[in-house]
Amino acid sequence: MNQALEKKDIIRLEQISKVYQMGDVEVQAIANVSLSIQAGEYCAIMGPSGSGKSTAMNIIGCLDRPSKGQYYLDGTDVAQLPKKELSAIRNQKLGFVFQQFHLLAQLTALENVMLPMVYAGIKGRERRDKAAEALKQVGLENRMQNKPNQLSGGQQQRVAIARAIVNRPVVLLADEPTGALDTKTTEEVMDIFTQLNQDGMTVVMVTHEPDVARLTNRIIWFRDGQVVQSHLTLDEFQPSHHHA
Ligand code: ADP
Ligand code: MG
Repeated sequence: MNQALEKKDIIRLEQISKVYQMGDVEVQAIANVSLSIQAGEYCAIMGPSGSGKSTAMNIIGCLDRPSKGQYYLDGTDVAQLPKKELSAIRNQKLGFVFQQFHLLAQLTALENVMLPMVYAGIKGRERRDKAAEALKQVGLENRMQNKPNQLSGGQQQRVAIARAIVNRPVVLLADEPTGALDTKTTEEVMDIFTQLNQDGMTVVMVTHEPDVARLTNRIIWFRDGQVVQSHLTLDEFQPSHHHA
């Protein structure tokens, strides 16, 4: 393995496969997926529904483990770590944003953003200051005391982004982060991702929206559980070359 290359890869999947067991039936969700993402990249994952994007994201995000293969996250193979160690790494190194925000309804924006630091053992004043800083970064310094149902969809997603970045992860992952938003709030949320990337954050997001993918610097294409292209931009990609 080339040492210099290895250093720059913040995410490297080698021959990753995932088989889900559904009773007696095995579903092969992804097969022999290899891909690398370097520090500072701004990447979209695209592909038809059922092509394995979320499965890959959940493995990349240390929410799930592959059935086979190696996954180097920031230099460490995390593919077969026990669940507890995996979640420790996830809390330390990764931020995750979901389509449905996943905010706690009974907590304010500030309290939602403070949650990851409760798990990280950061206390009191420092916890509050860091959460306020993250909310400021997503333009919600005036909404800290609002509960989710007092915020628009776009604002809720920005709270979720603040929560994802509050522990300063090495990678920010997002699975269809604009899937529940209209055009205007999509733009508002994408502006945040773009700004975070410009400030140095590595960002990887699944999307099926060409207008969202276009804003990123690289598109990784999935089809039938495999990566079919990983270096083309949206305009360079010729879907007709890859249809079955
Ligand atoms: P995408 O995100 O691209 O729509 P997924 O990764 O969700 O694709 O799914 C890939 C394949 O794996 C699909 O055939 C899907 O039905 C299957 N799959 C996903 N999650 C599970 C699960 N928890 N149990 C069984 N099969 C699953
Ligand atoms: Mg999905």
